[in-house]
Amino acid sequence: METNLLIKQLKAYMSKSKLDFVKEALLFAQKNHQNQFRKSGDPFIDHPVSTALYLANMRMDSTTIASALLHDVIEDCGVTKEEINEKFGLHVANLVDGVTKLKINNPKAKNSNGNIQVIDTEQIRAANLRKILTAMSDDVRVILIKLADRLHNMLTLEALKKENQVKIAQETLDIYAPLAHRLGIWDMKWRLEDQSFKYLMPEKYKMISRLISRKRVQRESYVNKAIKEIQAEIVKSQITGNIYGRPKHLYSIYKKIERYSSQGKQFDEIYDLIAIRIIVKTVPECYSTLGIIHNLWKPIPGEFDDYIANPKDSMYQSLHTTVMCYEGYPVEIQIRTEEMHLTAEEGIAAHWAYKEEDNDTIGHQYKSKMNWFNQLLDDQRDVDEDIDYINSIKKDVLGDQVFIYTPKGEIKTLPVAATPLDFAYEVHTELGHDCVSALINGKTVSLETSLKNGDTVEIRKSRNPRGPRLDWLNPDLQFVTTSKAKLKIRQWFRKQERESNISRGNEIIKKESYKLGIKINEKEVALLPGFENISDLAEQLGAGETTISQLARFLEKELLKTSSKVNGEILQPEVIVMGLNNLPNKISKCCNPVFDQEIQGYLTRKNTVSIHVSNCSYLRYSVEPERIVNVVWGTNNQKLQVKIQVDADDRIGLLRDITSVVSGENINIDFLKSTDFGKTTKIDITVYTSGIEQLSRIYSRIEAIPGVREIYRLN
Ligand code: MN
Repeated sequence: METNLLIKQLKAYMSKSKLDFVKEALLFAQKNHQNQFRKSGDPFIDHPVSTALYLANMRMDSTTIASALLHDVIEDCGVTKEEINEKFGLHVANLVDGVTKLKINNPKAKNSNGNIQVIDTEQIRAANLRKILTAMSDDVRVILIKLADRLHNMLTLEALKKENQVKIAQETLDIYAPLAHRLGIWDMKWRLEDQSFKYLMPEKYKMISRLISRKRVQRESYVNKAIKEIQAEIVKSQITGNIYGRPKHLYSIYKKIERYSSQGKQFDEIYDLIAIRIIVKTVPECYSTLGIIHNLWKPIPGEFDDYIANPKDSMYQSLHTTVMCYEGYPVEIQIRTEEMHLTAEEGIAAHWAYKEEDNDTIGHQYKSKMNWFNQLLDDQRDVDEDIDYINSIKKDVLGDQVFIYTPKGEIKTLPVAATPLDFAYEVHTELGHDCVSALINGKTVSLETSLKNGDTVEIRKSRNPRGPRLDWLNPDLQFVTTSKAKLKIRQWFRKQERESNISRGNEIIKKESYKLGIKINEKEVALLPGFENISDLAEQLGAGETTISQLARFLEKELLKTSSKVNGEILQPEVIVMGLNNLPNKISKCCNPVFDQEIQGYLTRKNTVSIHVSNCSYLRYSVEPERIVNVVWGTNNQKLQVKIQVDADDRIGLLRDITSVVSGENINIDFLKSTDFGKTTKIDITVYTSGIEQLSRIYSRIEAIPGVREIYRLN
């Protein structure tokens, strides 16, 4: 059945020779998957055929269709890449091989004694995403096939066990749907989302399906009335357009309802489900139609977007507006040409659409169009830490985006929470390096302000180029958030002379150890991985390779030595009782465990937990083994008493600013005194912190408060 449909679809657009090539691939796949069945009991060949059919509906080239048909023969039939190369050529062989290797790993791994141990899922996601992006940079068609493959698997998920359904659906929602979104393949994106939604939140899925069907009649009559009126108006201007009510997808409705409820807004079953799309022939007709609509109904200010003049990164183009339609209800309207519509539905795939000539060389052309994609690959090349990598991908690629305007009206896409500095680096590296101040919508703002969708940002440069500030890399201050900006700043410092890096680093060590009241021990530095001696540490600090907070973590041990006594009492590290966190606990006298020893807890009849060494014999022969609970040593709950002094220019609001930094860390101020010396003021604060890392963060933030001259620790 599906096979006939596929051939029919291909015949509609392929020449005979190309079709024969695809048929040969089909035959090869049929032969190899013979007698194989899917979990549903269907013949296996249905799967590659359905995958190919989806791509054929997008009129993809013959290489892609053949590869889709063969995409499982390496993995499931033991066919080699060489064999595919001989029969179908290198392009097909590479694509099939690429899809085969693109396996998403299971975030669970078995350790040596057979117990299942959950390993860092973030790291696995990072590795998976890296794989996907690498495959994409080789030939983006690998991803298109993979997405079609995944879609068919999602459509046939019913046959799997519940736990696998959830796992696969989650992975689809986390990785594949955002990827389809970024590649601009909307049709794929919403299908993947709706399918995942169905398995991840079955109740809510049903609820929304019911919601949609309930008031269909009223909704349709409202839309039809509006369509008729638009139709009548555009005909007067000799425009012929295809106008229709645009269906909204279940998952997007769900998200809208969630958003509404968090804003306390009521979701309307009729009007919030209405959207209209108008497809016309030419770009001037798009704008004429827009004018006609705005004449007919009042547009809602701030709801108009011109993605024709300013296409999105994925090349998406369209006019979006929301108007006050009949009875004052807002209705979303999109206006675009047929060509734009194709790009909107198929995104990147539109560039691989079938042409009579060989499509395999199209790569370069499209790469220059997919600017963001190029940049992304460039940016990621130098990021080698997996965790950095996943964070940057999550934010820069899969995360939500804001559109920011340059003063000339150009659009830049940045992740949510990006700052003016991120923007400056996005425009030009030098603009970032020389940035001294920024204006958002004409107002001067501090460089760490979060940008909002639609902001216009102007960057002021210093007259004499002086390079970035090392502060900008301090994660506590959040000057920059994109991996690109961080990378460019780090590269700048890396390029500086070793000598000047060392002296800058020494300054930091001096300043930081003075502030924190700690000495840095040469011997201990040598023990740390990555540093041979203090100048090594200094160089890395000065070059921005090691951050202040990493230094702080290293200094932590030092602090423990100098202030392990609070009020003359030796600090006992707290114990965390897993799952029963607020039960009081005490170290048992029988075995007296010390910090870092393996421990277990015993839930007493008084509902306290006594802490024993794991192999304590009392515990082993305890009468009620079910009272044994898991415990671990707490690491961050230790509170260290620290006295800080801040010297500052006196001004109104200074104390409030300082105390809000401290309370922002969720710690208590034990003592506070401010002494005035005319224009300057001295503030003494005593706090209990969880350690040097936190203390260093507090310092950085207090130092950034206007008027603050110096901050240091009192002993
Ligand atoms: Mn497959």
